[in-house]
Amino acid sequence: MQEYLRSTGKKIGFVPTMGALHAGHLALIETSKKQCELTVCSIFVNPTQFNDPTDFAKYPKTLTEDIIKLESVGCDVVYIPDVADLYPDGMQHLPHYSLGQLENLLEGKHRIGHFQGVCIIVHRLLDAVTPHQLFMGQKDYQQIAVIRKLLDIIHAKIELFICPTSRETSGLAMSSRNTRLNPIQREQATAIFQGFQTLERNPTWDGFGQTLLTQGFQSIDYIAFCDPDTLEEKTDRKRPFILLIAASISNVRLLDNYLFI
Ligand code: AMP
Repeated sequence: MQEYLRSTGKKIGFVPTMGALHAGHLALIETSKKQCELTVCSIFVNPTQFNDPTDFAKYPKTLTEDIIKLESVGCDVVYIPDVADLYPDGMQHLPHYSLGQLENLLEGKHRIGHFQGVCIIVHRLLDAVTPHQLFMGQKDYQQIAVIRKLLDIIHAKIELFICPTSRETSGLAMSSRNTRLNPIQREQATAIFQGFQTLERNPTWDGFGQTLLTQGFQSIDYIAFCDPDTLEEKTDRKRPFILLIAASISNVRLLDNYLFI
């Protein structure tokens, strides 16, 4: 893989995914295609980043449809490794990355070990694909900060590009997990984007959590107003700030964020 890709001598753009592709993923591929000569998409549901075995088991898998979608946007290479390709020595004695406070905040606090799993897999995928540019979505805002740190730790000369969050017309952030929502729950899930819009008009509004629960959300892991650079929680609502949310409807955990500038 590595030898073949580098032997092309082309500028390689890379989009790592876990499959169940939607228009948000395809937008990343299209951005890479504009900037690079060869675009690689990987599809791999990484076991080490799931702290909840049920979530891992239920993660949607739609490989045939994914390949058709990738062909439709002209993705050059799709890399679909097996667990044994990326974890040849099993899942014991894995490396540890010094991510500092970043891995204890927000997602890190609620999904212990998640970002170590993300770093392990992205590091291994980067070694396999050897890209010049890496394309990721703003949808996973904290993940981007983690990957920026990873690139620094491993001294990778890879440019990281952040693509905006793709949304349904309802405002719901596209996500592979949305396929697990029924039509009523999909409608309820739009309360997140509606909340962002309410806050645009009135940044001091304090009813976000209560509104989500009233609209049918079952639980809220966090609604955090943070500094966009450090991700530390802010005590005021002075712009710029980023609002990060993780909340569940019927055990489907939805993640979203919105930058107030
Ligand atoms: P995933 O397959 O969910 O691991 O996501 C693979 C990549 O696609 C990550 O960089 C995500 O941030 C990005 N992504 C997922 N959903 C969206 C979205 N709605 N808009 C933009 N990027 C996204």
